[in-house]
Amino acid sequence: MPDYTAELETLRQQGLLRERRVLDSAQGPEIVVDGRRMLAFCSNDYLGLASHPGVIEALTDAAREQGVGSGSSHMVSGHHRLHQELEEALAEHTGREAAALFSTGYMANLGVTAAMAGRHDVILQDRLNHASLLDGARLAGARLKRYTHADTGAAARLLEAESRCTLVATDGVFSMDGDLAPLDGLSALCREQGVPLMVDDAHGIGVLGSKGGGIAEVRGLDQSAVPILVGTLGKALGVGGAFVAGSQEFVDYLVQKARTYIYTTAMPPAMAAATRRSLELCREEGWRRERLAKLVAWFRDEATALGYRLMESWTPIQPLIVGPSDRAMALSEALARRDILVPAIRPPTVPQGEARLRLTFSASHTDEHMERLLEALRAARSETGAA
Ligand SMILES: *Cc1c(COP(=O)(O)O)cnc(C)c1O
Repeated sequence: MPDYTAELETLRQQGLLRERRVLDSAQGPEIVVDGRRMLAFCSNDYLGLASHPGVIEALTDAAREQGVGSGSSHMVSGHHRLHQELEEALAEHTGREAAALFSTGYMANLGVTAAMAGRHDVILQDRLNHASLLDGARLAGARLKRYTHADTGAAARLLEAESRCTLVATDGVFSMDGDLAPLDGLSALCREQGVPLMVDDAHGIGVLGSKGGGIAEVRGLDQSAVPILVGTLGKALGVGGAFVAGSQEFVDYLVQKARTYIYTTAMPPAMAAATRRSLELCREEGWRRERLAKLVAWFRDEATALGYRLMESWTPIQPLIVGPSDRAMALSEALARRDILVPAIRPPTVPQGEARLRLTFSASHTDEHMERLLEALRAARSETGAA
């Protein structure tokens, strides 16, 4: 049994103890956290759909008609028509033959990875992939090899030396840096080597592409180029859950083999109805993506002018690299004193010496919100001497 007291004390002394804030409001730019009204730049609700009246109405209407709980797993009696319809809509949205719903992105990644590899196989992944992809390789009992971030050449060298590789997996948009995976190169490499490519587009779905089809839409990569596409429904789509899309045969296989699909209760069908509504809004209201792009460009110009160091990201994930952890913390605290919530991300989540503020933007941030942020960043910088 772990020594709880000692473990917690060690974390506290290292400054690594994570504390949860209690939220007392709906999701949106202005939230009430720990009793305090704050302007937040840290949610993944990129399109501002999490509290959209149409999505709320779809959820409540469906709950009134179909109840709340799904009652069982998809394989027993939990696979509701509302799930089926959402799966079909997601397949169409991503230009794939079929899709299967999972309760979370974490479970989708565990399920797919473990269904694609066994004990004697090798899985190749980008070094900065999301924890759930790395954990999936562990669950599979497979050997995990990681290549240098976004380096197709490094991936090719590992792949060529490896005859037992059954899956190459990468994030589409990297969650801490906001940059994009080199999918053209990875896709060509995987085709050449006959290994399936899996892309986890948790931060791209809804955000990238003219219809919000994600990184595969932007790069024009169809089902043969990216045969395994994962998307989450709790970020840009504002609800919760995830999906895996691909060929009909692949999805049929997954439904038989993915343990995180089979041995778990299906998401409430009303959530599927709400997600269908948010998917429609996502497709029809292109202004949300245009607004996001405008905010990102505005922020980058102004933050650069203030002397901040940005990363090569044109997604709504905009890290400001600060360097030492204590400086990142001081900046985050200086912003909090102005009622602005921006988390500091420190090692080991990011490499040593690259502690940062990680800002995310939403289509629901107003011009006035942006002005408040920029003014606070200016003041915080002169106050802390940090850059
Ligand atoms: C958020 C995220 C996940 C996990 O999705 P959940 O639905 O929150 O479990 C998986 N992959 C990436 C890249 C993510 O950013």
